[in-house]
Amino acid sequence: MGLKTVLITGAAGFLGSHLCDRFIKEGYKVIGMDNYITGDKKNLAHLQEHANFSFIEHDITEFIEIEGSVDYILHFASPASPIDYLKIPIQTLKVGSLGTHNLLGLAKAKGSRLLIASTSEVYGDPLVHPQTEDYYGNVNTIGPRGVYDEAKRFQESITMAYHRFHGIETRIVRIFNTYGPRMRLNDGRVIPAFMGQALRGEDLTIFGKGLQTRSFCYVDDQVEGIYRLLLSDYSYPVNIGNPHEITIKDFAEEIIKLTGTTQKVIYKDLPVDDPMQRQPDISLAKKILNWEPKVGRGEGMRITFDYFKNLSDDELYKSEHKDFSGYNSK
Ligand code: UDP
Repeated sequence: MGLKTVLITGAAGFLGSHLCDRFIKEGYKVIGMDNYITGDKKNLAHLQEHANFSFIEHDITEFIEIEGSVDYILHFASPASPIDYLKIPIQTLKVGSLGTHNLLGLAKAKGSRLLIASTSEVYGDPLVHPQTEDYYGNVNTIGPRGVYDEAKRFQESITMAYHRFHGIETRIVRIFNTYGPRMRLNDGRVIPAFMGQALRGEDLTIFGKGLQTRSFCYVDDQVEGIYRLLLSDYSYPVNIGNPHEITIKDFAEEIIKLTGTTQKVIYKDLPVDDPMQRQPDISLAKKILNWEPKVGRGEGMRITFDYFKNLSDDELYKSEHKDFSGYNSK
């Protein structure tokens, strides 16, 4: 019998590329797919010559054709930072809806198991804390973040419909804030934002009063959770994230210490619908996957900062999303 084949969409992105590495390491044949709208070729450069890796440049909102059998599909294509999906709202909606529909069709035709990347954003600005999988969420459908949140909510619905109606094997991971090497330095998210600012000698921009919370999961832990979920027999959504919660203000202080910057923090307007608190309840993942995060924030942030430190000046000073001032503020 040949190797099992896995198709990974969003393969040139942050999580997608780490998943490619993991499945190659586990002895799978990996087909990466990306249209590079937010992904980066350099994230896959090290796999290009690998005998078990191939790549197809394709926009999955268009019909997808794959030769041969596909055992697993991991759907990780989507803009994922608030500032990205504000800039490309229609593509964000399309990849979560039409893209997912195409992949479900492919999974049905090939008899593949499909895992979709959902998100803590399906909980919106949550009224339940920490967030459990049975919480339905508090999302503003027509707000600027709605394009991402509702695309992901629709993605969950259509996935469950294909599962129930066509009997397709599906898995749904709800990913909470995840970080690590290969994040885009200028994608606007708080970790690359603060680290990039420290490296450029700029002040760190805190949005709002900085009392909003997030819980950051290191990428290796996230990938391990996703891997276990794919191979499990559980079809309902599962939170994967690190429950260790911190305010953005305290986090900025941690980054100042870690990076040794002499800059200070400055305050900017809070973006519309920015969730005030976020912490995954991971009891379900612990129970059914025997999974919990292993890498603490201190260690994970050091590895991530080392990665950003070693990027070229070109990357560091790229203007894309560098000026965050008051984007989309109330
Ligand atoms: N944030 C900030 N300064 C920045 C970028 C982000 O204070 O330069 C805040 C943002 O308002 C949010 C949190 O950090 O409350 C996390 O933002 P991120 O964009 O990383 O992801 P989110 O969890 O909102 O999807």
